[in-house]
Amino acid sequence: MPESDKNQGFDAFCGVAEQFATCMNDYLFVYDIMNDAYFITESATKRFSLPAALFHDVTENLRRVVHPDDFPMLQADLQQLLSGVKAEHELRYRWLGKDGTAIWIICRGRVLQNAEGRPWLMLGCINEIGQKQKADNVSGLLGASSLQERLRQLRAPKAGFVMRIGIDDFRIINERLGVDYGDTVLRQVAQCIESRLLPGQSVYRVIADEFLILDLLGDDPEENKELYYNIRQEVEQTIAGHNYEAVYTISGGIVDMQDMQKADYEEIMRLSEFTLGQAKRLGKNQVYLFSQTDYDAFLRSRAISRSLRKAVSNDFAGMDLYFQPLVYTDTEQLYGAEALLRYQMPDGEHISPVEFIPILEESGLILPVGKWIIHRAADMCKACRRKYPDFRVSINLSYIQLTKSPVFIEVMDALQETGLPPDALIIELTESGYLENSINVQKVWQRFKEAGVQIALDDFGTGYSNLQNIGRFNPDIVKIDRSFTLRAMQHSYERQLLSHIINMVHSIHLRIVIEGVEEREEQQQVMQLGSDFIQGYYYSKPCSREEFFEKYHIM
Ligand code: C2E
Ligand code: CA
Ligand code: CA
Repeated sequence: MPESDKNQGFDAFCGVAEQFATCMNDYLFVYDIMNDAYFITESATKRFSLPAALFHDVTENLRRVVHPDDFPMLQADLQQLLSGVKAEHELRYRWLGKDGTAIWIICRGRVLQNAEGRPWLMLGCINEIGQKQKADNVSGLLGASSLQERLRQLRAPKAGFVMRIGIDDFRIINERLGVDYGDTVLRQVAQCIESRLLPGQSVYRVIADEFLILDLLGDDPEENKELYYNIRQEVEQTIAGHNYEAVYTISGGIVDMQDMQKADYEEIMRLSEFTLGQAKRLGKNQVYLFSQTDYDAFLRSRAISRSLRKAVSNDFAGMDLYFQPLVYTDTEQLYGAEALLRYQMPDGEHISPVEFIPILEESGLILPVGKWIIHRAADMCKACRRKYPDFRVSINLSYIQLTKSPVFIEVMDALQETGLPPDALIIELTESGYLENSINVQKVWQRFKEAGVQIALDDFGTGYSNLQNIGRFNPDIVKIDRSFTLRAMQHSYERQLLSHIINMVHSIHLRIVIEGVEEREEQQQVMQLGSDFIQGYYYSKPCSREEFFEKYHIM
């Protein structure tokens, strides 16, 4: 195409642009790449700090109208367009108004090629998004509605990833330092994120203290994590630069576009919320990469949690308290029973307490359920005492109950209602690292002891057990965990160890329960170890109150 024709093309497009501009609010532009000329509809010169409607030396003149923070991003994008790497341009960034204020715009354009296939003209349109979707005043970033709009245009991106970033314990920052300082922290984090973004990445402030970065290219999970570490480093430097006025951390969650089915706004928000939540649950100040297995587990746990909540408000529907006998080791006579909670979901599935007890604890539902258990267990004990006057019931207490509910009073109430003596109930507590460190727990423990309620130290021989704790807590009973018993059956060293522990515990007048005895052979060996009581499938699996009554002929 001769040079003159090319310029004619440019002129023609400029004329058309000006014609159209009269009937719309947007600004149309034509960028003559080969001749380094730029034309934008006249109205733009009144709004933005542009030299004229038609200007040359395009990059330098654009530098004057574009917000300095955004210019590198624009420049990177233009380079790709001018070198022919890509033909479509779409970017959200800020132009400067005539008075110097930043105005958010979205610029869309398309590059036309000349006959030799070289980039020739770019035709495009600039809209002021600030008019419709105000950039958020605190962080200066675009908000959720802009993200929504952008994703609608992208129509299910197949490549790239999203990263959700949240400020850890932001509520505490607001509480301690005031809301204004909270805003400062938000601004700082927004700036740290923006300063570390690569070309093509964009960031939105999606909710209060959470940001979402959209990247349409990155496909290497390790590199994607790198972005988080870069931002975190920037945040650390900012905090140091402000003389540690406020010290805070950020967490991040990453979801690959490939891990999503639709990659629309709803799915992106849902999965990114999960990943950020997971990073926080894992201890904060870290990045977590989406895993379908973890997500499935999360959904299951949430479904169980919801169903447990319904059960509690529906008079504990689906819950039942089972009982497993404890027998005297020497006579094999009934001594008492351990109360064990059971739960069946509305769809019929039986969930193991190993799975649902932690959910009850996390959700706080262990408090009402725990109270219900205490009353049912005491009632069962009273019924059994009609036939076995010394019958005792063991109740498992969760650490949460000890710290967050008036569990001591609940137990005393249950005793009063049933008329049982305090030593008819045994409270089972598991060493978990909490027991040892909490003054409150030790106080409640002490009150139980003073009231004459028996205390059992549960699961001895697992993770946290510590001989010192036996001395420190002075329980009445020590329950040896099945895993320890099994090891003792198999290795003579562990058998000797267990035997010594039993002797030692006996010498300070405590009693021993060996748990989890399943086979006759095990029962024989356990008898020789000299425990006081045995509990295990060998005698009976945990069973319902009715079955228990039947088995032991209790009316
Ligand atoms: P745990 O307190 O150690 O309870 C003993 C567990 O060992 C019970 O599991 C019991 O069914 C199981 N078991 C008893 N004998 C045998 C045996 O011979 N072989 C084997 N393999 N297992 C045996 P379950 O009922 O599934 O409960 C698991 C855990 O859930 C309990 O361990 C306890 O930590 C918790 N849990 C159960 N019910 C309650 C409750 O009402 N409140 C609280 N806070 N925790 C509970
Ligand atoms: Ca127990
Ligand atoms: Ca146990």
